[in-house]
Amino acid sequence: MVRAGPRGRDAPSMLILRPPPSARRMADLPDKRTAFIDWYLAVVEAAELSDKRYPVKGMNVWTTYGFRARRNLDAVMIREIEASGSEAVEFPTLIPANEFAKEKDHIKGFDNEVYWVTKGGASSLDVPLVLRPTSETAMYPVFADWIRSHRDLPLNVYQIVNTFRYETKTTRPFVRVREIHFFEEHTCQVDEAHATERVRSNLDAFRRMAEAFCLPYLSLRRPDWDKFAGAHYTIAFDIPLADARTLQLGSVHHYRENFSRPYGIRYEAADGSQRYVHQTTFGLSERLIGAILAVHGDQKGAVFPSAIAPYEVVIVPILGVDSGPGPSDAARSAAERLRRVGRRAFLDTGDERPGAKYYRWELHGAPLRLEIGRREAESRTATAVDRLGRKSPVAFDRLEAEVAERLADFDRALLERARAAFAAAVTVAGSLEELTGSSTVRVVGWCGSEECGHRIERAIDGALLGTPEDPLPVKVGEPTGCIACRQSEGIRWAIAGRPL
Ligand SMILES: [Zn+2]
Repeated sequence: MVRAGPRGRDAPSMLILRPPPSARRMADLPDKRTAFIDWYLAVVEAAELSDKRYPVKGMNVWTTYGFRARRNLDAVMIREIEASGSEAVEFPTLIPANEFAKEKDHIKGFDNEVYWVTKGGASSLDVPLVLRPTSETAMYPVFADWIRSHRDLPLNVYQIVNTFRYETKTTRPFVRVREIHFFEEHTCQVDEAHATERVRSNLDAFRRMAEAFCLPYLSLRRPDWDKFAGAHYTIAFDIPLADARTLQLGSVHHYRENFSRPYGIRYEAADGSQRYVHQTTFGLSERLIGAILAVHGDQKGAVFPSAIAPYEVVIVPILGVDSGPGPSDAARSAAERLRRVGRRAFLDTGDERPGAKYYRWELHGAPLRLEIGRREAESRTATAVDRLGRKSPVAFDRLEAEVAERLADFDRALLERARAAFAAAVTVAGSLEELTGSSTVRVVGWCGSEECGHRIERAIDGALLGTPEDPLPVKVGEPTGCIACRQSEGIRWAIAGRPL
């Protein structure tokens, strides 16, 4: 239940997060290992990140606390994509049906997923409109106007907007929704090689984003039968979860001329000839918040890396009958100093016991807590406790620097913990039999044929997710044979799992 609200006029940047009446005790969260989905849903609700009571399925309300996480996620995406030479734009939400239909594979790919707008007021529209499921078909007719000459290239633009897909599977907050908070980059390049380079640049940008999220992941070239509708090829990012399940975090597509031809996006080359641009796209979404919760969360609740945490530091004054004004003053001063250097700091002045506050902020995933009681106020040293339970003193004189160190150290430890879980969740399989009922994501030798691919998919009751673009983050030698046909020519490693 969401109880977050503004605190009052004197402190507009602070929130009071009251414990919900149904506040679960630590032991009450379902077991993450044995009941993952139940655990995930309980954490999203208990940490007050999303309100799913909105009367349209799959369209959830971003609460104040969840919105802070989303804004931080956006900031990381914006920072990295702009560093790679992309600029923000924003295109309209509605797409005319005739533009939407121009690339045949693309329209086919979205046949059962789009929402239609067919009426304006009481009258039927001459040209029905599509609520964008993604923005290729909104942007590309306009790109054709923008691009005339090789001097207009490359065109690298992105937008962060809501997109809509009529999801028929069970919806889950952040992970499978019908109104998607979507990051999409669209680029036009002079030729195929430059488009390939843009794909590499996107992979680098995502690597830097994932560092901020402390998330180890797999970068996989999807098999042809599973690539994005209209793409020449697709590279997707996946993370392993319990029980051989995987979650796709986002993807990068090389379109070649598949869209520029139907949309007429041409330019005059230096030699005077007319050529079609080669295009790429890069898509991410709030699913990253779901991934961060799924990977880092534990039996105490959510765990946020500092870059995404709604509040990086929570300051809890400990007041007793004889504590005097010391702890309150010191806590207030610490909050002010941290905010002045740009830290997202929350001063928890609520009247509950300190223990109840610790419990709540662990549930909400705050990376660092500073406890300030009478002893701390007198010695001018706060007690810092990070979300992994590690305690250390922080001198008031070096507050800003020491908090920065603790947060960096926390992120490192979080990444290490995630890497250990990742290594345990991705293992090599030597035969199709090993795939049946597998509890880990499997690395398998694959000859590249579609037939063998489908045999692998049937054996694991999931999908062949693709071939790794980067060295595998688990120790494997060279593949010796295809796990399905046993042939030993042209074998590559592939990843098989059960997409969530
Ligand atoms: Zn084979």
